[in-house]
Amino acid sequence: MSHSAIASTGTRVMARVDPAAITHNLQQVRRRIGKSGAATDSPRIWATLKADAYGHGIRHVVPALADADGLAVAQLADVAPCRDAGWRGPILIHGGLQDIIDVTQLDQPDLHLVITHAQQLDWLEARPLHCPPPWIWLRYIGDMGYFGLGYDAYQKAYARCVPWLARGDIAGIGHLQHFASADTPTGIAAAEARFRALTAQLPGPRSTSNSATILCHPEHMSATDWVRPGRLLYGISPLPDRDGSSLGLRPAMSLHARLTAVQTVAAGTPLGYHGAFVAPVTMRVGVVNCGYSHGYPSHPPIGVPVLVNGRLARGLGQVTMDFLLVDLGDHPDATIGTPVVLWGTPELPAEHVAAICGGIAPELLAGLTGRVPIYAS
Ligand SMILES: *Cc1c(COP(=O)(O)O)cnc(C)c1O
Repeated sequence: MSHSAIASTGTRVMARVDPAAITHNLQQVRRRIGKSGAATDSPRIWATLKADAYGHGIRHVVPALADADGLAVAQLADVAPCRDAGWRGPILIHGGLQDIIDVTQLDQPDLHLVITHAQQLDWLEARPLHCPPPWIWLRYIGDMGYFGLGYDAYQKAYARCVPWLARGDIAGIGHLQHFASADTPTGIAAAEARFRALTAQLPGPRSTSNSATILCHPEHMSATDWVRPGRLLYGISPLPDRDGSSLGLRPAMSLHARLTAVQTVAAGTPLGYHGAFVAPVTMRVGVVNCGYSHGYPSHPPIGVPVLVNGRLARGLGQVTMDFLLVDLGDHPDATIGTPVVLWGTPELPAEHVAAICGGIAPELLAGLTGRVPIYAS
């Protein structure tokens, strides 16, 4: 993105995506899952691009992931943007077929469909004849408990797919599960043991391991053929007590706005709807042109941090559709047009802001609305 394009955004809210950070984070994941990085026995990487690449924009992220082994998206409709962005490798579709009408989108190469219920196999049988054979990944329900095939249903589905594979109607059968508690002491042991028992006699690659599994269970990496990191690629820590920077990652997206007004208010002045904040002393208050219609949390606590001209300031907890209020007490130089960062830098990680607001960072990233233009630079 050229500088003129960024300059032309004027005083609007915008998000900045750093593709080099994503490439760096992918390398960090490789380093963690493999002994030498190039080891052939290291698991391969499905780079997870759900929710338009966790809000970063598939078109911005795909060029930075040239070194991934595959991409993973939520639905078939997300395949085209990946191809448009230049991706020629395999694509895993977590949601598989969501409706029989989806089979009309199977006329393309290198699709890996996750199967979460038997009806999807019925739909698959009904696909047009000229479709190239897709890969099938059976998803075990595991300890998530609501998405995937139970133990018996899994075995039935596998038995049903074997003749398809023999006939060349499908390109392969893989085994997939998603751990519910990889970031807790309970860990993955019980779910992994059941999955292992289920698939021990079944040929085909296995895919497990979201970001938390990669971080917290390195011993598990030898038991999986494909890992599926999401957050780590975007520089986001899945662990409550860590941020991405402390894990050697670089945040890949930041949210930027500006001061659009500055007011000096007298002690005792009520601010906002129902006077929800009352100025305790005479204070300078800044109005930032970012609100919940952009995806900023609507009810942050008083004191939620923001960066004004690169230095920490206190948000006052007042967020409207288009604006939020900050305390400029420590920012005498701040004036209309002064840049504000809401989250996404090493000084103000999205994990930190999300936690203060009672949520998680992917919610902030994927929660940006269409009102926020994204620039890659
Ligand atoms: C979202 C998702 C991932 C990636 O999760 P992160 O915590 O972001 O790494 C992996 N596998 C499945 C099935 C998912 O839905």
